[in-house]
Amino acid sequence: MSFSSLNLSDFLLNALTDLGYEQPTPVQLKAIPATLEGNDVLAAAETGSGKTAGFVLPILERMKDAIPPRSNHANVLVLVPTRELAVQVEEAVQQYAKYFPRKLKSLAIYGGVSINTQMQAMRSGCDIVVATPGRLIDLFKRNAIDLRAVHTLVLDEADRMLDLGFADELDDILDELPERRQNLLFSATFPNSVRTLTQEILSDPVEISI
Ligand code: AMP
Repeated sequence: MSFSSLNLSDFLLNALTDLGYEQPTPVQLKAIPATLEGNDVLAAAETGSGKTAGFVLPILERMKDAIPPRSNHANVLVLVPTRELAVQVEEAVQQYAKYFPRKLKSLAIYGGVSINTQMQAMRSGCDIVVATPGRLIDLFKRNAIDLRAVHTLVLDEADRMLDLGFADELDDILDELPERRQNLLFSATFPNSVRTLTQEILSDPVEISI
């Protein structure tokens, strides 16, 4: 099975060729079609499985005709447990969006660095925000980010996010999102805490386990 048989546009296939990706990984084979169809997705996936492309590629495909984001708005929100993962996922977004029809705006938001630069970067709006929960809330409280246009939410490494004690922050963020949206949740393990979260967030999800 090749990437071209997954109904991805040339702007994505060309980026994948540049990266030397030849075949989709098992999680990509399942997550890409399910996400393209607009489903909520629940995926058991570890680091190294190719999960990042598994959600970024179909999200970019679905956004290819979307108008640019309004000032301070985020259209896609990817929540991650750590600063390192935020940086890594945002870099992956830019690699896959190399030939996006217009310049795709993405931003990594995480703590431990000055908030001012991140607040300023949000002013021109952002197609895809990749954020750790705590710093995202800081920006929200300062009115630096508007979440009312978020049409897609990704929880990446949901188990680690809960292990790090982000449950309350997640609830606060979920309260600010539009009810109608697509939700994708990736986790390596499924303790009860993650199962409860999936029940809260996901609506009739396609379940993927490799
Ligand atoms: P991830 O699990 O998303 O952190 O990805 C692990 C690594 O695999 C990253 O370095 C990706 O660039 C790489 N990767 C993801 N998908 C593919 C693929 N289909 N073919 C080759 N490498 C890939």
